[in-house]
Amino acid sequence: MIIRYDSTCAEYAAPGHAEAPSRVLRTAEYLQGKHPDWFPVEARATEPVSDKILRLAHSAAHLARLRNTTTGMFDADTAALPDMDAHARRGVEEALVVAEIALEGEKAFSLMRPPGHHATANDIMGFCYLNSVAVAALHARSEHELERVAVWDFDAHHGNGTEAILARKKGILYVSVHQFPCYPGTGEKSFGNVKNYPVAPGTPPEEHLHLLENSWTDILDFEPDLVLVSAGFDAYQDDPLTQMTLRTEDYATLGQWLNDTPCPVGAILEGGYSPELPQLIGAFLEAWEGGV
Ligand SMILES: [Zn+2]
Repeated sequence: MIIRYDSTCAEYAAPGHAEAPSRVLRTAEYLQGKHPDWFPVEARATEPVSDKILRLAHSAAHLARLRNTTTGMFDADTAALPDMDAHARRGVEEALVVAEIALEGEKAFSLMRPPGHHATANDIMGFCYLNSVAVAALHARSEHELERVAVWDFDAHHGNGTEAILARKKGILYVSVHQFPCYPGTGEKSFGNVKNYPVAPGTPPEEHLHLLENSWTDILDFEPDLVLVSAGFDAYQDDPLTQMTLRTEDYATLGQWLNDTPCPVGAILEGGYSPELPQLIGAFLEAWEGGV
């Protein structure tokens, strides 16, 4: 397992916001204590992402707005802060690295913020500025001439941005399992290359896990050359933002499924706001690594 982590991503905060620096700081400390070997001493350098690559998913106007807005709010949940452009780009850069590592046959997880799956081609919303997973999926497909790239999104919220960007894109499958109704209010129906699994608030964990298993089967049936996972941990039973019921061991089950597939897989942190986030990520990664 290779963790992609740059503590610079903890250097921004909106006061009182759930998407807080402690999410990654506490998780990094926890994982570094348990698995120091997951944090390579000589990590590969991260290349600055070009506007050309970001334009695979975002409009020029979107990139300009992110670059030029340093105060105020993009939406009710998403603050414009100094250097936000650099922070968001760093998240994309690590997602690109994760995809590369996965294609080289290793397991990799980006422990970065901000999350990205609500960002659309033109909208900064829901704590998300740039859609890291969508950029990485589209870039991997074109750069490596992959026939099929799948994105599996188990964050408790529907990845409306990822869906909007990837819908109707050739050689791409997007599969999401999420609470519905819930923010952002999308993801009720499947269509074309988009498979949505809405889960009612309070659904028992066994039932939620069964839907997750069906969704993972969709991914495997697609026979992807690469799977990128939008790994959000906010469907946990004690997450303050949702009404879902998954337990720590359920995240280990998801990791086990990744370990069972021969297909290249890379994962990127999306949401997850409970104090137990480090343990949830740990359970997921340890099972993915191979039944620790
Ligand atoms: Zn979420």
